[in-house]
Amino acid sequence: MDRPKLSVVIPCYNEEACLEMLHARVSAAAKAAVGDDHEIVLINDGSRDRSWEVMQRLAAADPRLICINLSRNHGHQLALTAGLDLCSGDQILIIDADLQDPPELLTDMRATMAEQGADVVYAVRRKRDGESVFKLATAAAFYRVLDKVTDTPIPLDTGDFRLMTRRALDAFLALPEQARFIRGMVAWVGFRQVPFLYDRQERHAGESKYPLSKMIRFALDAVTGFSTAPLRFASHVGLALTGASVLLVLYIAFGWVTGRAIQGWTSTMLVVVVLGAVQMFVLGMIGEYLGRLYVESKRRPLYIVADVAGPVKGHARLGY
Ligand code: UDP
Ligand code: MG
Repeated sequence: MDRPKLSVVIPCYNEEACLEMLHARVSAAAKAAVGDDHEIVLINDGSRDRSWEVMQRLAAADPRLICINLSRNHGHQLALTAGLDLCSGDQILIIDADLQDPPELLTDMRATMAEQGADVVYAVRRKRDGESVFKLATAAAFYRVLDKVTDTPIPLDTGDFRLMTRRALDAFLALPEQARFIRGMVAWVGFRQVPFLYDRQERHAGESKYPLSKMIRFALDAVTGFSTAPLRFASHVGLALTGASVLLVLYIAFGWVTGRAIQGWTSTMLVVVVLGAVQMFVLGMIGEYLGRLYVESKRRPLYIVADVAGPVKGHARLGY
């Protein structure tokens, strides 16, 4: 198969205000890095604005642009998976649509990859402009907790902005899971992965597509996908409570033998309430894993493509 030197893969959800500038800057950066031998893959993740119309217009004018329209909003990580599946380059750059990650860094990232003989160059955020204190604090806490509980070392303060070689991408694509935490999955694949420091910019236009609910889901996918520490924690709590109840039984027996019957409503209620809460919490934690196991067991396709625009010859998976 005739591979372009570079594919740039970009998931887009309601990004109509960013697309033209995005296309112009990514095209220029790709051209500066590898000349004309590149492709840009935009994935429209069920946007409710005019993103798809804009993409079709851009694709009509640029033979290096491939646009994929998913059948609905599948979520950032699945949209990105669709693009990674369908791109064909020797090197692959993943970048966000909102230009928070400057595409102009591509040349330096390629240089780092060549100098260090790396298969993955992941961009680490040294600074993040224009994001709320809440977002910065939760993100910082998230990466640190994740680092504590996972067995795979996942780099801190690193998003999906990264440059990969084809062999690293192919290894990544062999991972079939539905709940996808892509930056963790890429770390899991191994090979030589090196950091690249950069300053994250403000969004070009629009607002974050990650409300709190999506952030929580994302964090849960990350933890459950890469760690069984919560399950271990559940069994440790269970063990500790069992120990405590043995002591309590001894105490009750002692009261019964000595004829000093237990009197307290307070202590009874405390035991009932605390035990009830702990049990619910632990059950919920097990439920998080069980639910994911159920979803995985259905083996549904990860995404559905509705339309494509641009030169899609050779994309066996799209049937073209
Ligand atoms: N995105 C997507 N589907 C979604 C949510 C987000 O494809 O359901 C894309 C979005 O268009 C952007 C990237 O994922 O290119 C990161 O989203 P965003 O910039 O809103 O996240 P933040 O930078 O605020 O964490
Ligand atoms: Mg963003």
